[in-house]
Amino acid sequence: MASIEKLMDKLVSLCKRRGFIFQSSEIYGGLNSCYDYGPLGVELKRNIKDFWWKAMVQSRDDIEGLDASILMHPRIWEASGHVANFTDPMVDCKECKARFRADQVEGAMCGSPAYKGRKASKCATEGKFTEARMFNLMFKTFMGPVEDAANVVYLRPETAQGIYVNVYNVMQASRQKIPFGIAQIGKAFRNEITPGNFTFRTREFEQMEMQFFVKPGSDMEWFEYWKAQRIAWYDGLGIRKSKLRFHQHGPTELAHYAAAAFDIEYEFPFDWKELEGVHNRTDFDLKRHTEYSGKDLSYFDDTTREKYIPYIIETSAGCDRTVLTALIDAYDEDVIEGEPRTVLRLAPAIAPIKAGVFPLVKKDGMPEVATKIYQEVRRRFNTFYDDGGAIGRRYRRMDEAGTPFGITVDGQTLKDQTVTVRERDSLVQTRVAADQVVPFMEGKMAAYRRGE
Ligand code: ATP
Repeated sequence: MASIEKLMDKLVSLCKRRGFIFQSSEIYGGLNSCYDYGPLGVELKRNIKDFWWKAMVQSRDDIEGLDASILMHPRIWEASGHVANFTDPMVDCKECKARFRADQVEGAMCGSPAYKGRKASKCATEGKFTEARMFNLMFKTFMGPVEDAANVVYLRPETAQGIYVNVYNVMQASRQKIPFGIAQIGKAFRNEITPGNFTFRTREFEQMEMQFFVKPGSDMEWFEYWKAQRIAWYDGLGIRKSKLRFHQHGPTELAHYAAAAFDIEYEFPFDWKELEGVHNRTDFDLKRHTEYSGKDLSYFDDTTREKYIPYIIETSAGCDRTVLTALIDAYDEDVIEGEPRTVLRLAPAIAPIKAGVFPLVKKDGMPEVATKIYQEVRRRFNTFYDDGGAIGRRYRRMDEAGTPFGITVDGQTLKDQTVTVRERDSLVQTRVAADQVVPFMEGKMAAYRRGE
């Protein structure tokens, strides 16, 4: 495994080289904290979203999907508390002009090249920082051609509110009853004071959020249920268990509306950091929207004849942060037959390309047979055809892209219609009948478990 300090540098460089993630607007010098997903990255991200959607929506009877708009009525953000409270404390260093989030000075470095390697906390204790000022993280824009206060709208800082304001639309249309949930994947925007650590904290990002509506009194039971479900999901995603943990919010961290909150944290190379929040938001949200919209958002249970404002258990994950986690967790280096190799041990379910197809040589009819197999396999899985260079080099290219299977057509294929299937992690090569490659891969993928 690469040394921790170098790991992020190596990963950022691999992401660019292999087309996972590029700096946004690079030819103009880049736009700070904005990133673009390249051909492999977009497949990985899409697979992660599908994996979440399948687990949270399609495989359940009690969760419905939603895709709400990014721009919403500005009153929503007053009701949610974002206009008044979605602020971070900001401090500036009077000497080097660097800007920090006051609660994140610990661990940050001074911004001045003159003080390279100096901790920002030292500047703080030496009185170089301004007083903390509160800074609202919401991006503002204007609806229509007139840029005045009456036309202000916000780019949503979370997807959750679009779910709350649609709860009864969804419930009625889908004939759900409480307990039930609504799930959504979509962009969110936060004008973060200190974005950084590659895509870990950016100003534009995607969230995968699910809001589960329950009867008051049953909330803590559902909260525990969702905690267990969500950490198990990362295991299914192939993230090593030893790198995951829960962090319980203490009284000072707990949002004013929350009865309980746990973060699922991952051990990033820069520290243990939040990957997802599981929150018991009580009846705060629907009460506030009742108050601000004037529409009664209480629920009437027609079996028990009870009326109440539902409690909400939220599971709020970052999609880009999950992509980054999957990449970091998968990154590995080993030596094969004396040659170093970089390999992404991505779970097959999320790997951008599932199989590479290789004719051993570009003659003797092998390309024709390999092309036929490629056409067959790609109907089921995203597949890549490569006939360029030595076979070892072709395998390495696919290892680096996280491709779990390599299918090679060789001399024997022409005699008995079998191919070799090479597995990325174990390097085991199995001879498989060419027409059985897809079921072979399906079996291996279903049995896949990530080791520690
Ligand atoms: P923090 O305190 O670190 O700013 P938060 O507690 O405000 O984060 P939540 O509002 O709970 O974060 O957001 C839910 C999830 O959305 C996070 O766990 C994270 O995965 C993702 N997320 C939040 N902010 C960002 C960001 N700026 N960039 C990328 N992902 C983010």
